[in-house]
Amino acid sequence: MIKAQIKALRKQFGKQEVLKNIDLTIQAGEVICIIGPSGSGKTTFLRCLNVLEQPDEGEYQLGEVQYDFARIGRKQAQEIARQTAMVFQSYELFEHLTVLENIMEGLRVVQRLSKQEAKKIATENLAKVGLSDKADAYPIQLSGGQQQRIGIARAMALSPEILLFDEPTSALDPELVDEVLAVMRQLAHEGQTMVIVTHEMQFAQDVADRVVFMADGVVVESGSPETMFQTPQEERTQHFLAQLR
Ligand code: ADP
Repeated sequence: MIKAQIKALRKQFGKQEVLKNIDLTIQAGEVICIIGPSGSGKTTFLRCLNVLEQPDEGEYQLGEVQYDFARIGRKQAQEIARQTAMVFQSYELFEHLTVLENIMEGLRVVQRLSKQEAKKIATENLAKVGLSDKADAYPIQLSGGQQQRIGIARAMALSPEILLFDEPTSALDPELVDEVLAVMRQLAHEGQTMVIVTHEMQFAQDVADRVVFMADGVVVESGSPETMFQTPQEERTQHFLAQLR
């Protein structure tokens, strides 16, 4: 079953063409890792998927609904945002709210749930990331790894059709990376559809169903982790991977 299909997505910042002609189909339950050099448009593409950035052109099928990126208004943007939740590189938690309140916020504001319902869902999701004992703590009292696990719980609480991760471990000290990747592995195992921009090649190799290599605003090639890491076809992919070794 297809969750989403993106066709001919284009995005410019001023005169700079950042995304040139991107096609991507996302299957239900699929874990897609997007890799590629810095500046190739990976983050911008991810942000386009939940219209934090509005693309200039392209088609977007999300579930049963077809959108024209060039004609997305406020209502359509809200519909799309509701089905996709983002986990940010720098967590983006509200410092003045407790952990539980952070997770409840989207449920209250976006989904307009009662306080009681929001608290129930937030508590369940906090347990999923193994941080029930931190419900009343403030973000500043937590390690980076714990803060990112809260970021994941907050996104998961919204029951998104597609969960988007923007380099979720790149702000973390190396010893804190594994606890976050473990939560992501668990979600993948549970069948959550995920698109992950990452520099964690071992993680991509282990967890991705498909690896997409982007450079210069295009998808250069995509395939299974085995193909992409062992026998990449394109010279740019080979060069990028060789640099990492
Ligand atoms: P990546 O995630 O692959 O490192 P990005 O999507 O962050 O790439 O950036 C792609 C290009 O778009 C870069 O040249 C970057 O400077 C530019 N860019 C990203 N966001 C903005 C913005 N809000 N305004 C102007 N240029 C931007």
